[in-house]
Amino acid sequence: MTELGPSPLAAGDLQLTVNDARAAIAGALQPIAGSETVPLMQALGRVLAADVLSPIDVPAHDNSAMDGYAFDGSALRADAATTLAVVGTVYAGAPPRGTVAAGECLRIMTGAVMPVGLDTVVPLELCRAEGSRIGIEPGVIRPGDNRRRQGEDLARGKPAVRAGRVLRPADLGLVASLGIAQLTVVRRLRVALFSTGDELRTLGQALDPGCVYDSNRYALMAALQRLGMEVIDLGLVRDDPAALQATLEAAVAQADVVLTSGGVSAGDADHTRALLARLGEVAFWKVAMRPGRPFAFGPLRAGGRASWLFALPGNPVAALVTYYAFVRDGLLQLAGATPEPLPVLQARCSHAIRKRPGRTELQRGHLSLAPEGWQVRVTGSQGAGILRSMSEANALVVLRHEQGSVAAGELVDVWLFDGLV
Ligand code: AMP
Ligand code: MG
Repeated sequence: MTELGPSPLAAGDLQLTVNDARAAIAGALQPIAGSETVPLMQALGRVLAADVLSPIDVPAHDNSAMDGYAFDGSALRADAATTLAVVGTVYAGAPPRGTVAAGECLRIMTGAVMPVGLDTVVPLELCRAEGSRIGIEPGVIRPGDNRRRQGEDLARGKPAVRAGRVLRPADLGLVASLGIAQLTVVRRLRVALFSTGDELRTLGQALDPGCVYDSNRYALMAALQRLGMEVIDLGLVRDDPAALQATLEAAVAQADVVLTSGGVSAGDADHTRALLARLGEVAFWKVAMRPGRPFAFGPLRAGGRASWLFALPGNPVAALVTYYAFVRDGLLQLAGATPEPLPVLQARCSHAIRKRPGRTELQRGHLSLAPEGWQVRVTGSQGAGILRSMSEANALVVLRHEQGSVAAGELVDVWLFDGLV
């Protein structure tokens, strides 16, 4: 882990825009070291640790792109039909075949190796078969057509997949096509998380008067699981500085990242702040956003180890929205993933939204495809504690910092949940 520069993580409360906060986090984090080699089918969603270089040419031989007839393209006539005698068949997977004489061709299947001296394939549907001969009309085909060249997809020694890639199904298919059965991926990032609050109860406990079930830990564990993180669940912590300190120290001892929710809003911040000041250089940010204003970020040290703390607000919607806005990309960066900008869609807002310039608002929305294009509506009440609005949403409507109220029918930016998880 590297030390942080003085700005904008200096101690004290800072009023930051969402973009400044994202930039500050991105500027502070360095990818972790450490990799492991896993079988191909365990690499899905992991971060590739080193470029995969192709050990072979792909395709390995010139081959036919179509079912048809292979012949020497220089035989094609411009003025009249070209007539060729069919003298045999080449199948995919069969060993390469010797050459044929002038005026002859071979029936060939898709993927079969091009016989020596033949460079062109006429698809079945573009020629006339007359007994054991075929006829090709002028202009139907050019020399070299429908032949895939050796190495045309990927030359031997060239990178097939780059380090930093979060591996997807097509990547695994590509790697398999090279005959590679295992991959070296970045070790999983270890994320320890806990929820804070005397009022919280965990699943299985009775709900005492005035208490609520801890939902943040479950939502966040699920989000971390989707991101391929190794999750260390440290449960619930009471609003008690000694308990908080003990749990933070235990978290730093085990994890690269410590993710907490609750206890950073104004009422709680004093004792949390004093504790965090002893354990590291955590900055408390007042991010100009709704929901999710209180947020703290910075390095923590304990027992000779260091971890990054991301402290989220306790309100369930604010916790998830700040996770998406700040934590998710930070975790991917720590895990060595090449950043990929989130897909931002423009959709027509089906109703007016009141908004004042000077803060970013992330509203829960439902996106649908209407005949006129993408359309979004906000899902019910937008209170920061109303998790149902998040559950019913499939997107976040991003009302930018400088943006004012939105009129019905106006275009707004939308982040798709599918791009986030
Ligand atoms: P705090 O940020 O600790 O002041 O919490 C703000 C609000 O969010 C309070 O109403 C808490 O009860 C609620 N809250 C805090 N943490 C959680 C949690 N883990 N699950 C559900 N609600 C929470
Ligand atoms: Mg609390």
